[in-house]
Amino acid sequence: MFMRAKAVRVKNTFRRRLIFIKSTFNEMTQNESDDIRYMKEALKEAQFAFDKDEVPVGAVIVSNNRIIARCHNLTETLNDVTAHAEMQAFTSAANTIGGKYLTDCTLYVTLEPCVMCAGAAFWTQIPRIVYGAKDEKRGYSLTGQSILHPKTIIEGGLLADDCAMLLKDFFKKKREM
Ligand SMILES: [Zn+2]
Repeated sequence: MFMRAKAVRVKNTFRRRLIFIKSTFNEMTQNESDDIRYMKEALKEAQFAFDKDEVPVGAVIVSNNRIIARCHNLTETLNDVTAHAEMQAFTSAANTIGGKYLTDCTLYVTLEPCVMCAGAAFWTQIPRIVYGAKDEKRGYSLTGQSILHPKTIIEGGLLADDCAMLLKDFFKKKREM
């Protein structure tokens, strides 16, 4: 009798633990698939830039599972060296929400932000940045993490190959011209 009660208890504990592991796993994969989905949207923006003969970097900003800004690099079109995808996206997102702080938003950008964009991200107080390809030459991380807001979590390398490939194709095309 005792053994059976113990066995049932163990079985129930095991089942509860299994349910917990399963729900945590589902949550993780849901978040991961959302991240991939939004990065693919940023990649679409990068492709728009490519098609306009702009350096192909794209960005989207998401708030409460909704894209509130989608932009790409426009430095040639606007003849403005500050017209990086992220800068466009910060302005656009602030306009959409009617406030300058992006405290419940995530920025998805195909290339690691430069120092200027990381500095702008600081002022927006954005809590999360996800980027694709690493920028070995101009990435913000070359100067250290302190440029970002202390509350900002940054993750790199999502769909990095796809993001980098677009840039490689662009510069290859430029060299051949
Ligand atoms: Zn930048």
